[in-house]
Parts: sequence; C-alpha cells; structure tokens
Amino acid sequence: MKSWILLVLCIACCTAFPARLQADINKYNEEFAKDYLKKFYKFKEDVHNSAFLDTIRQMQDVFGLVVNGRLDEETMELMKQPRCGVPDVGSFSIFGGNAAWKKKDLTYRIQNYIPQMTRDEVDQAIQKAFKVWSDVTSLTFTRIYDGVSDIEMLFASKDHKDFLPFDGPSGVLAHALAPGDNMGGDVHFDADEKWTSGSAGVNLFLVAAHELGHSLGLDHSKESNALMYPTYRYINPNTFQLPQDDISGIQSLYGPKETIVPTKASASTKANIPINCQEQISFNAATTLRGDILFFKNRYLLRKIAGKPEAEQYEINSFWPSLPTDIDAAYEYQKKDRVLLFKGTKYWVLRGYTIEEGFPKNIFDLGFPLSVTQIDAAVHNEETGRTYFFVNDRYWSYNEEKSQMDKDSPQRIGIGFPGVGNKVEAAFRSNGMLYLFSGNQQYEFSTTNKKVTRLLKYTSWLNC
Ligand SMILES: [Zn+2]
Ligand SMILES: [Zn+2]
Repeated sequence: MKSWILLVLCIACCTAFPARLQADINKYNEEFAKDYLKKFYKFKEDVHNSAFLDTIRQMQDVFGLVVNGRLDEETMELMKQPRCGVPDVGSFSIFGGNAAWKKKDLTYRIQNYIPQMTRDEVDQAIQKAFKVWSDVTSLTFTRIYDGVSDIEMLFASKDHKDFLPFDGPSGVLAHALAPGDNMGGDVHFDADEKWTSGSAGVNLFLVAAHELGHSLGLDHSKESNALMYPTYRYINPNTFQLPQDDISGIQSLYGPKETIVPTKASASTKANIPINCQEQISFNAATTLRGDILFFKNRYLLRKIAGKPEAEQYEINSFWPSLPTDIDAAYEYQKKDRVLLFKGTKYWVLRGYTIEEGFPKNIFDLGFPLSVTQIDAAVHNEETGRTYFFVNDRYWSYNEEKSQMDKDSPQRIGIGFPGVGNKVEAAFRSNGMLYLFSGNQQYEFSTTNKKVTRLLKYTSWLNC
C-alpha cells in the first residue's frame, strides 16, 4: 500500500513539475522578449497579441532568422546576446540628430576611465577605433583634453541622465547618438561590462568602432558580418578589416578617402586637360573602384565620383608611381574588394588605391595561352561570377571562384555580346549593366537578356 502511494506521488510530481517549469520558462521568455522589443523595435503592448507577433517577425527579419513570429530557441538566443543599445528600427535621435556631420575634421574627448583596463589600453582602443573610419574616408579625428568636443566618450553605469539607463553586466554594452550638436555623436560605454583589450571579456576597440559608426551617422546593418550588425562578436583586433558593407555605408555619407600621393609631377596634374569632350576620344580601360568609376587614357586617369558631375583628372603616376602608363584593361572584383590592372602580359592588383605586394604577375597564370600578349578590356559580372576578357574579336570567360578559364573560351564577341561589334576597348559594370566601349560608341548591355539595351555617347559619364 505504501509503495503504491509513493508511486502515484512520484508520477504526479514527475509529470506536473516539467509542465509548470515549461510554462514558467515561456512566461519568462515572453516578458524578456517584450522588454527587448520595446527597447530596440519600438514595440508597444496592445490588447491583442498581434503587435507583439508582428514585432517578433520584424526582429527575425533584421537578424536573418526564420520569420515565423514565434519565440523559438534561435530567436530567444539572439535576444539574449550582448549587443549595442541603439535601436534596430527608427533613428536614435531623441536629441535631434542629423544624418551626417557637415564638417570633416572632428574632435573627441575621453571623459573618464575604468578599473578594468589601464588608461593606455583605453586610449589605444579608442584611437584604433577612430582609425577604422578615417582609413576609408577623408574624416579626421583629433583628441582634445579640455573643453567640449564633437564626440564625447564616457563610461557610465545604470542611469546616467540621458533617459537611456544601462543594465549592468552583459545585455546592452554601449550606445551612441547620431551626429548633431550637444550630445549628438557622443558615445557611452556601460561601465559594468568586463572591458578588455583582448578576447576574454568585451573588447573595447570592437565596441568603440561600432559605436563610432553611429556617431558618424550609420544605422544597424542586416549583414551578419558587418561591423554595424547589432550584436557583439569577437574578431581579432590585430587582423580586423572593415567589411565592405560598412565601407559602402560610410562612403555614401562622406565619400571615399582622397589618396592622391603628391609627387613632383603631380603639382600640375589637374591642369593640362588632354580629354576634350568635343573631339573623338577613346579610353584604354575603365573600371569601378569602391563606387567610383575610373577611365584610363594614355598617362591620365579620370575619376568619376558618384554625386559629382565633373570627373577629376590625374596623372596615373601621381596615384601609382610604380605603374606604367597606357593601362590596357581593368576590372573590379567586388567580392574580394580588388581591382586588377593589365598592361601587356602583366597585371597588378589594387586594394583600394594601394597596389598589393607581389605584383606584377603574368597573365599566363590566369590561363591565357602564350599567343595572348595584350588584353583590350575586362569586366566582372557578379551574377555569374565570371570575368570577361576581350582580346581582339574574341572574349575569354574566367571563373573567379575556381580561378580558371571556362572550357569554351575563347568565343567570338558576337556570340556572347550580340550587337556590340567585334572589338571592345574598355568595359565596366554598374547597377547590374555592362558598359562596353567600342569604336566611337558606348553600349549598355544586359547580361540577363543578352542584348544591347541602350546606345550612349562615348563620354556620357563625363558630363560633357
Ligand atoms: Zn549599434
Ligand atoms: Zn547614455
């Protein structure tokens, strides 16, 4: 009899307890999620649950999760990750921020320090974080020690008088305000985090670099490998490279870095214009480079920056003293952030405006036969992963993933590019279209429809 009662009790306990526990977990998760969505997604509770479910979906979309409106394991896990305090939707401009600073030379000040790190470590992490952004724009950041700077940086715990209290260890790590007067651009770090210059706690450099993105006007990115992704992820600061998504974002606000290397010859590079819009001209090569379009002509380079009507003109050797003039062909491989320049049987690789080490190399390494001694034009098509090299009346198709020529190369230009003629002098790709220069014509070519979609003036990009 006794053992029978015990057995019943046990069954009752064993089944009831996990069910209650699960209900408690669900309740806790729901409260946690509501709190999270209020903070970062402008969620407001309503009588029906529909706003809640919609906001869960919105959050799942931002993080690239399965959009099901459920608090599944993946969703809860993401919500519990340490992250930035700036909301993912709507701007964080309760103090009236701007989209971008109207000046290029900004100042910053470090208001206080923390016991977790030495002053030196903090200074270095912050300085390195600013360099991330000054490397890819013409912005400059100068540290000041007295007075009020543009970007004030401070460590604070819990309530710190900006209506955005911190939450103790983990959770929100830091926040920053959009560009603007007074508190605009300021960065606050949660003093209760385990800040470090290594990997063991929260790396100050990585968080500072992210927050400065906000200080300069960037919102969160959906790209999970972007610096501006909302959650914290450790990356080795010594090998850190700003992802392309962030570079594109910041350059859309401030333009690329002016990297003209002054040389003896470059004092008068902008004068002495050889390109005359009235005359018949032809380009040796053309390519995009991080959103700019470059045209090569003899010893000159024309740079067309998005948003500026006039193209800037330089001598090629004022950018790259070690490069020859009369570049034959050029193309950008955006996936790897590289531009390749060709002359004769040699080629060079640029990253930004810097020539990579170990070049020039030989075009035969790419799979060309010895009979090819010069490339007329080159262009990469992101959709197919192929680079097309134009040589006389043929084109070669190169598979970038596999680093090899496609087997059916070369083919007649007329087969792959009907309507374009039988020689291509220069080519680049922009907004999903190829622009091919041949004779005194410019062809806009759709690779999707495999046909010419527009005939343009040869100089249409130069505001002639
Ligand atoms: Zn953020
Ligand atoms: Zn704050």
